[in-house]
Amino acid sequence: MSPIGIYVHVPFCSAICNYCNFNRGLLDEALKRRYVDALVADIEQHGDGAAADTVYFGGGTPSLLAPAEIARVLEACRTTFQLDADSEITLEANPETMSRAGLEGLRAAGVNRLSLGVQSFRDEELQRLGRIHDAARAREAVGLAREAGFDNISLDLMLWLPGQTLAHWLASVDALIALAPEHASLYLLELYPNAPLRDEMARGGWALPSDDLAAAMYLEGLATLDRAGYRQYEISNVARPGRESRHNLKYWTDGEWHAFGCGAHGTRGNVRWRNVPGAADYVDRIRTGADPAAERRPLDPETRFGEAVFMGLRLVDGVDRAAIARRYGVDPLVRFARDLDGFVERGLLRTDEGRLRLTRDGFLLANEVMAVFV
Ligand code: SF4
Repeated sequence: MSPIGIYVHVPFCSAICNYCNFNRGLLDEALKRRYVDALVADIEQHGDGAAADTVYFGGGTPSLLAPAEIARVLEACRTTFQLDADSEITLEANPETMSRAGLEGLRAAGVNRLSLGVQSFRDEELQRLGRIHDAARAREAVGLAREAGFDNISLDLMLWLPGQTLAHWLASVDALIALAPEHASLYLLELYPNAPLRDEMARGGWALPSDDLAAAMYLEGLATLDRAGYRQYEISNVARPGRESRHNLKYWTDGEWHAFGCGAHGTRGNVRWRNVPGAADYVDRIRTGADPAAERRPLDPETRFGEAVFMGLRLVDGVDRAAIARRYGVDPLVRFARDLDGFVERGLLRTDEGRLRLTRDGFLLANEVMAVFV
């Protein structure tokens, strides 16, 4: 049995970005204190003692928690799970929340990986997104993190932004490379139907780049990162060798993880659950001894098989057909041969070396290919 991951959701933000559809809300200090108490109680009550080797604080903006609060949550993880001494412990952070003392406190608490939401190195683009940091603050945050001893840093960038040109995008990629993070994530802006950014785009006369331009941004951004020595390992992620996100790899390699906090979802022993989305509701449920999950559903082998292939195809190495066949009793290429032939002919999918994997062009049309499996 492989070690599991532990996901901890922190839903608070200093400001709400105008494109964001995550489970988040404005910081409320009193609620935050009760929320941390609830997280600790939830972990102590529902943690199942499994061996774990990653903890991931996602949000929201987890860096709004004080280092002492992070330390309490991690201590609860250590007493409730068999947390490996060499665990990867990641915290998502926004540049404007970073201070030297805070970063040193996080290191002392045991956080050893930072994932910084930089999004762009152009101030104009950051303002359009409603972000409250600028590029200089992002650079300063990386410098402070290095001084505090962080040697595993990931930076997020977003592409396909309103008004963004290919040159703007590649300038942000170059600026990222200049900071030499160990890992980077490239996310396509996804605008949900009522996103406030849509109104602002209409008012400002900003259009999204065309689909062809988005494809060029993706491919040229990755090619630039290739030349700088990064290796793409997942549809949206690149890393220096050995610095891939160990936690996120559990999602993509059919692993298991426990989840705590509002809106968090976990997978353990053929059960998938999703916690109630509201922070106050979550706190109340933990305080009264009620189940924090809004939904629990059993995962039958057929569903797990489809998901294992679907998620594995996000990886550059794709899925190992023999490993899937050993686990689920069926080779995905044999099962889906007729649906997949066309993708192979179009150069989107490769089936050599006993694996099933998307090409870079295939990643551009990943939804089309992956739809076969769900
Ligand atoms: S900081 Fe992140 S989670 Fe918070 S509103 Fe902005 S994009 Fe959403």
